[in-house]
Amino acid sequence: MTVLKGVGARVAEKLARLHIRTVQDVLFHLPSRYQDRTRIVPMGALQSGQFAVVAGEVELAEVRFGRRRSLLVRISDGTGALTLRFFHFSKAQQSGFERGKPIRCYGETRSTAGSAEMIHPEYRLLTAGEELAVEQHLTPVYPATEGVHQLTLRSLTEQALTFLDGGHASTVGSLIDWLPSELARSFKMTSLQAALRYVHRPPADARIEMLAAGRHPAQQRLAFEELLAHHLSLRRVRLRAEHTSAVAFAGKSALVEKFLAALPFTLTGAQQRVINDIREDLARTHPMARLVQGDVGSGKTVVAACAALSVVQAGYQVALMAPTELLAEQHFRSFSDWLQPLGIAVVWHAGKLKGKARTSALQAISSGGAAVIVGTHALFQAEVDFGSLGLVIIDEQHRFGVHQRLALRDKGRQAGQRPHQLVMTATPIPRTLAMTVYADLDTSVIDELPPGRQPVKTVALGQERRDEVIQSVRKACAGGQQAYWVCTLIEESDVLQCQAAEKTAEFLAGCLPETRIGLVHGRLKAAEKETLMAAFKAGNLDLLVATTVIEVGVDVPNASLMIIENPERLGLAQLHQLRGRVGRGSRQSSCVLLYQPPLSESGRQRLAVLRQTGDGFEIARRDMELRGPGEVLGTRQTGEMQFHIADLLRDEALLGAVEQAASQLLADAPDNVSPLIRRWLGEAANYGEV
Ligand code: ADP
Ligand code: MG
Repeated sequence: MTVLKGVGARVAEKLARLHIRTVQDVLFHLPSRYQDRTRIVPMGALQSGQFAVVAGEVELAEVRFGRRRSLLVRISDGTGALTLRFFHFSKAQQSGFERGKPIRCYGETRSTAGSAEMIHPEYRLLTAGEELAVEQHLTPVYPATEGVHQLTLRSLTEQALTFLDGGHASTVGSLIDWLPSELARSFKMTSLQAALRYVHRPPADARIEMLAAGRHPAQQRLAFEELLAHHLSLRRVRLRAEHTSAVAFAGKSALVEKFLAALPFTLTGAQQRVINDIREDLARTHPMARLVQGDVGSGKTVVAACAALSVVQAGYQVALMAPTELLAEQHFRSFSDWLQPLGIAVVWHAGKLKGKARTSALQAISSGGAAVIVGTHALFQAEVDFGSLGLVIIDEQHRFGVHQRLALRDKGRQAGQRPHQLVMTATPIPRTLAMTVYADLDTSVIDELPPGRQPVKTVALGQERRDEVIQSVRKACAGGQQAYWVCTLIEESDVLQCQAAEKTAEFLAGCLPETRIGLVHGRLKAAEKETLMAAFKAGNLDLLVATTVIEVGVDVPNASLMIIENPERLGLAQLHQLRGRVGRGSRQSSCVLLYQPPLSESGRQRLAVLRQTGDGFEIARRDMELRGPGEVLGTRQTGEMQFHIADLLRDEALLGAVEQAASQLLADAPDNVSPLIRRWLGEAANYGEV
């Protein structure tokens, strides 16, 4: 790094904050936008909002004492005039603006009351006759940090690009184009060098809008490589799994047969198909890594139970993990109901478990006495020691991140063997995206709902119709239906959420004296929650007022009405999940989105999508358009799959090619894979190491 001029120890330290440590890092620190300083724009042609270079002469400078003291400098160029406005200025600065002095400025034009002005433009006063050339390239604007200025970054990239041209391979470290030239050619990609040069110093005639949108072929070349690196890192995880062994669970399981025979329904074709996929995976001597995507209510839990039973039959343990305590409790109840009659011990474990109960759960887990263990992510803390873990099931995996999923693979590794892994999600994503985000997994889709389900009728009503809504809840409950009333708050604060739900429950109890109302929120004790949910499920409560704790997985088929307050505050995927709590039985269900007017444009769009469709794939697709894939997949919050330049949605068209290129690279130039991953993922490249 210090081979570059202007980089001493102090600057180097600051650059490190931008993750710039090598000359290569400088080259991969890409501009976030560009300025056009390649031409001088006549003042008469300036548009409001335009960033431009202007050249003219000072006409007048004066200090105005208005609401805020400011220095106004009037300049003109024969085609028009412009006012420069400074709120902060020194005496010396003020006296520099002599009438007739040539001046050059760069800034954003604003039109106010018929005249154009620039606030705090960059400017330079010239001496008479002095020539000042315009820039040859669009000016890059880099993501900066305190103490590292644009000019520094520009100078550094300038030098790094010179190294690049000079072919100083040793200084630039490993700036090698890891895409073999045949491969680059077949995917119509320019060389890495050309792409980098272009994005750092676009020529004056480059299309600035295209660059701003990240769609220029040079940027796409880099995005392609970045997506390739991410994809390869996950493919590598998959390849390693093929070199890892696992216990094979083959043959028909008598337990599965018994379980299915006892169910009050028959499996759908889709469930059967997915169960077969899983059975084939489990029969192999390598760990399964399968993702089951199935819309809300498609019946994933039964599929998980079948997988569990094949493993339990052979005397191995199964761990089932859910993202929320409420969902985990519910699974615990379902699995207990289903499996205990078959003589199988089901054990509960969560972070809140304390004292003796905890000790005995941990004991049952490590002795192997517990066949199926259900819980939250507490299952995977170090103190939990599985006796003979054969299968890990993760429900609603989109709530966990890629890293967590990969870390879990290591849990339960014994004598070089790993447990099989089954992950389930109700946030379906388009196939092309799945190839990137879930490239380490095989995928099955439950693309059929159990028979007799009717789509949930969805209406959006403003808060002013609250009374009407309350009356319809009263009618529904009087007629033997059950309902949810979901209170949402944007604040993450548990306390506030619960308070809001408490208030609502009190209010509703006042309006609906004959209705049996329960209240469930995140601050209840596990046992209290469980009692309430059980009462609701058994039909002893008519109306359940709840926070979004009921978002995932909760399954009460008789519930057929849902009111969601302030739905405009939630994302589409979350609303779809919530709504999925109804429409689980054969009765026609309804969902009322009780919004707070006025709706924002995006709020209106989201609610419209929900009214129009109940298809999870379609909803996920629209959600990604509205919010971006990072939010939808939950990767943004956890800081995973952060891209420097790629954008999953914008670059979706590249993903097919990325997958092909990955296969080609693995076959033709396997040695290039690791350095390519390291270039883009840095330390996160350890994905593959866990
Ligand atoms: P999800 O895929 O959202 O996790 P669940 O596994 O909770 O869905 O199943 C939703 C409901 O459908 C449950 O009440 C479950 O018992 C029921 N169910 C599952 N499979 C079938 C089926 N083949 N026929 C009828 N009902 C089913
Ligand atoms: Mg579920």
